[in-house]
Amino acid sequence: MKLEDKLYLLKFKPDEKTHLQPKEEDCQRCTERPCTTFCPAQVYKWEEGKLVVSFENCLECGSCRIGCTFVSVDWRYPRGGFGVSFRFG
Ligand code: SF4
Repeated sequence: MKLEDKLYLLKFKPDEKTHLQPKEEDCQRCTERPCTTFCPAQVYKWEEGKLVVSFENCLECGSCRIGCTFVSVDWRYPRGGFGVSFRFG
């Protein structure tokens, strides 16, 4: 099964508020922007000179907490009842 097919099986209940907050000044001085490649859900995209964060699609894997060049992401789990639900089988 391809990754895209597996992601399709997940259920999301997005919150209104983001649970991922990278510091804008760190994003601006970062030249590598590894978050745009390692995030399995492609939450981070660099568009028109700024980082766009589609937190609604986050899989809560935690990679961006430590993978950010400047360890800049204020990362929290979504509030209770929100976020991703994993279904297996
Ligand atoms: Fe992407 Fe994982 Fe960070 Fe969510 S926690 S934004 S899925 S790297």
